Amino acid sequence: MYSTGDYQHIWGSCLQLIKGRVPPQTYSTWFQPIKAISITDGALFLQVPNKFFYDWLDSHYKETIQGSLREVTGNGLVIKYTVLLTDVPSAEKEKIIESIPENYYRSTYLRSAQTGMIERGTRINENYVFENFVEGNSNQFAKAASVAVANNPGKTPFNPLVIYGGTGLGKTHLLQAIGNHALSTGHANKVVYVSSDTFTLDFIAAIQKNKTTDFSRYYRNVDILLLDDIQFFQNKEQTQEQFFHIFNDLYQHNRQIVLTTDRPPMELKGLQDRLLSRFQSSLTVDIQPPDLETRIAILNKKATADGLDLPYDVIEFIAENVTSNIRELEGFLIRMLAYSSLMQVDIELDLARKVFRETGAVEKKGIVSIEDIQKIVGTSYSINLDSLVGKSRTKEVAEARMVAMYLAREHTNLSLKTIGIYFGGRDHSTVVHACKCVEDKKTENSQFSVRVVSVQEKVRNAI
Ligand code: ADP
Ligand code: MG
Repeated sequence: MYSTGDYQHIWGSCLQLIKGRVPPQTYSTWFQPIKAISITDGALFLQVPNKFFYDWLDSHYKETIQGSLREVTGNGLVIKYTVLLTDVPSAEKEKIIESIPENYYRSTYLRSAQTGMIERGTRINENYVFENFVEGNSNQFAKAASVAVANNPGKTPFNPLVIYGGTGLGKTHLLQAIGNHALSTGHANKVVYVSSDTFTLDFIAAIQKNKTTDFSRYYRNVDILLLDDIQFFQNKEQTQEQFFHIFNDLYQHNRQIVLTTDRPPMELKGLQDRLLSRFQSSLTVDIQPPDLETRIAILNKKATADGLDLPYDVIEFIAENVTSNIRELEGFLIRMLAYSSLMQVDIELDLARKVFRETGAVEKKGIVSIEDIQKIVGTSYSINLDSLVGKSRTKEVAEARMVAMYLAREHTNLSLKTIGIYFGGRDHSTVVHACKCVEDKKTENSQFSVRVVSVQEKVRNAI
């Protein structure tokens, strides 16, 4: 069916497709090293560096690869993997590990047809479900609102629901989780997930083809409209106009609308006032960067999902050093895995350090532990730990306690709740209050301010 030369071309086209579908780093780590080596008996043979590499591909990108192949060849060509074995006689060098059954590939379109979901181009990621979403202080509220909406689309007061937060913090994950959940529980039959730039492009194409009626019919005919990254709507007046009509229509028919944006809706410049005022009457929930505990929980969860047994010090190291967002956290994990697999070394703290240094970032020396802070404050105020975390309300002890809480918030990544727990199980509102008191008093009372600064200096030196 194929001449032998075809495989390079076929695999090259697959790579092109894959490149547009995975993050650049994933592409260079997991796809560039793959070599197409032959085509025979209805199978395309791909060579991968080692067994670990194969396992990873198989558990994470099976559909990505098989799907792209199907799109390129349009038929049931299967993929077989071979691993280059370096320590064996050359005759046995290439060993076939496994072939993917011909009908394995289940496209999201099929799934859509079964559930009645329509979609355009953009696919819903089946891993983006609530169960895989780790909850922490930073995203709890956004998740709760999303769950509520997914269980009761169009019937809660949260319509539209607007989720906003910085990049890589889980907006798309939550948005698609709403869709997945509503579909799988039968709370909705038609869900459309679309990014705002796709929506815009679709709209422009519809204008060109004189099909704007079809366009709006398509969007008006859904139970839930999930629109990602509406900041792309800024200054696109015609698209906004169209969206406004669709929005009103859906709203009046009690259909659910969920939007995400990377900034608070009121800060979206170039958005028509009437859209803005619609958002104003809606529920806006934000997602903040995750705190240390949430980062640890996320890493644990990802490691478990990948069947990895990461030593705790490695998890802690990553969580303490990769702090900006969750996408980077995942990226780091992948890079470390790739490294360990290609270099055939175990994942240990040294490796984590090495990989981290290669990113060009500077390692944090480690943050101070809350115990150290308590010790330092205790010594400075000549108070023992029991009193510091106990119930005493003498002026001296109360001040020391407030200062210790304040420093714990400044110099650890612990949540307010956890800090409270370290202080004899106090409520997080007590910690909030203490921090505020210290801040106020620092500006009002210079003697107090000097005391705090000198204790803070000691804490800094302990880092
Ligand atoms: P955003 O849309 O806000 O830029 P994404 O939703 O794409 O961010 O999230 C980036 C990555 O981080 C995704 O792989 C997502 O699954 C993961 N992620 C984000 N938040 C969480 C969380 N709370 N628990 C587990 N994974 C998360
Ligand atoms: Mg996103």
